[in-house]
This record gives sequence, C-alpha cells and structure tokens, in this order.
Amino acid sequence: MRFEEIGWNGFLIRVPEEMHLTRQGGDANKGTFIIESENSFIEFYWNPIPKRQKPLLSIVDQITERIEKEAKKKRLKFTSERSDTIINDHKAIYLLLNYGVEERYYVWQCPESNRVIAVRLVFKTYGEKERNIVKQLMGTIKCHMDGDNVWSLMKVRFEAPRSFLLRSAEFGVGRSHIELAESNISMLEDFERMIYVCYFPLANVRFKDVYKDPEKWFDNVYLKDFTRILRKRKVKFEFKDKAKIMGHEAIIKQAEMTSGLLTRTSGLCSAAFWYCPETNRMYFVALNTYVSKPVILKRRIERTEHERLFGRILESFQCH
Ligand SMILES: [Zn+2]
Ligand SMILES: [Zn+2]
Repeated sequence: MRFEEIGWNGFLIRVPEEMHLTRQGGDANKGTFIIESENSFIEFYWNPIPKRQKPLLSIVDQITERIEKEAKKKRLKFTSERSDTIINDHKAIYLLLNYGVEERYYVWQCPESNRVIAVRLVFKTYGEKERNIVKQLMGTIKCHMDGDNVWSLMKVRFEAPRSFLLRSAEFGVGRSHIELAESNISMLEDFERMIYVCYFPLANVRFKDVYKDPEKWFDNVYLKDFTRILRKRKVKFEFKDKAKIMGHEAIIKQAEMTSGLLTRTSGLCSAAFWYCPETNRMYFVALNTYVSKPVILKRRIERTEHERLFGRILESFQCH
C-alpha cells in the first residue's frame, strides 16, 4: 500500500493513495474535511478550544450518546469501548462504537493550534489493511506545525504562514484552486494579503497554442479571469523576472494598483506561472497585498515584506 501526504488547514497526514479528499469546509480555526475511498471514510472536524474548557471525556460522551440514540431507534445492538492514547504528543481518547457497523473515533485537544479535534473512521471491513491505515494515519499525524503551514494535495505542495486562513478551494476537472487570506481590518486601514494558487490539467490539449509559452498563456488566456478574482476591471501586469521552480522556467509578473475616490487603495500583486510537463498542468501562483486607507493618511505597501513572502512561497512550491 502506498501512502500520500495531505496537508490541509494546519493538519499534515498520510493516507493510502487511493483515498481522496472529497469534501471540505471552514478554515484552520473551525472546519471539517472528509477523505474517502470505496471502502473507507475518514472525517476530521475541529473547533477552537472553548474559553471554559470542557473535559475530553464529555465530548466523547456526547458522541457516544448521539450514536447510541440512533442505534436504539433502529433497534440495533450497541456496544462501546474507550481507552487512553497519545496523538502527536497530545493526550487523546480512542473510542470504538459498534452497532453492526464499527465507528472509531480519536478525540484530543491541541493547545498549539488552539483546537479540539475529532477524527472519525469507518471501514467496510476491518482487517490487517485497515489496521495499518489507522496506525499510519494516527501514528504520523501532525495537528500543529512548528513553522509555516503545509498545504499539500493532488501533487501540489507549498508552505504559507499560519496567519493565512483558507478562504476558498475548489477541485474541478478543468481547474483547481486554493485561496488563502490574511486580514487586518481596523478604523484606519484595511490590510489584506491573499495567496492564490491555481492549476489547469491537460494543458497541452486545452492550451495547445500557448502552453509552451507561459507568458502568452497568461496574457491571452488567464489574465482576464485573474483580474476578476482581484475584483478589478483592469490590471496591468509587467514582466519582472524569471525563476526556476522544480526545474521549470517560471515567468514572474507584477502589478501595482490604485483606485478609489474617498479612500485610495494601494495594491501590489506578484504572480508566477509555468508549465509542468510531469503533470501536464499550467500553474499559477500569486500574492496580492492590499492596503486601503482614508486619503489623508499616507498609504504604503511593505514592498520588501511582500517580495520576501512571495519568494518564500515559490521556494517551497512543488508542482509534481
Ligand atoms: Zn497538535
Ligand atoms: Zn513540475
């Protein structure tokens, strides 16, 4: 069995490669995701640790009671077992519920990421293979990171500061994207940074004439879409540099933006794009830094900080 890494919302896990992320919602503070294959179902859900801390046991009781009630309604025989365990150095509770179907739960608190985490595992049958999946998954799971968060899925991997939260994600046949945002809104200024990662499969077919010339692809095909994502009518990107990303030549462009009457908006957007023959995908990675302040105040973008972060994201990027 081959395992693959998934990095999502501050979790880094290993699951068999035939398992895929099928549903997801929320962000690193509160959210859920589901990983499935034909014979298995794994659900993660997490919430911030409440101010008045609840003992883990009460959460485990809640889960048990809910399932027991359901089972009784259907007149199914119900049993439960629980034991203490350790997950990623945190004290955890393992719970096994059986009502004809076996459901396994791991529940723990991660103070480092300030969340209460529950993992629910259901398998069609439970044998050697499934035992191994659980052992690999729960034995190697990371529920908090020391440095940047790792975002890793479908052969794409990059790192971003933990202050960036997931704003939207979509995995489609034609295109996939991950949008992260960090915001700081106050009386005097709105400050926001956005990381936008996007890729298009089957590039040599869909972008037959331009996939070998990423600059052309961006100018002629993708710029219009991305302008809409930036909520602008027109953005002028200028050539900035070239970079090597996993052996591919990437084009880097940059745009500066100003607009507004009563408040002036100042934006700086850096974008990199390239073709990856290994996956036959077009890749697009952007960082948008945006400041909006009343006109009397000086507006300023921390240009060096912006460029340093963009470089850090690109350096961590893996496209195949
Ligand atoms: Zn943790
Ligand atoms: Zn590549």
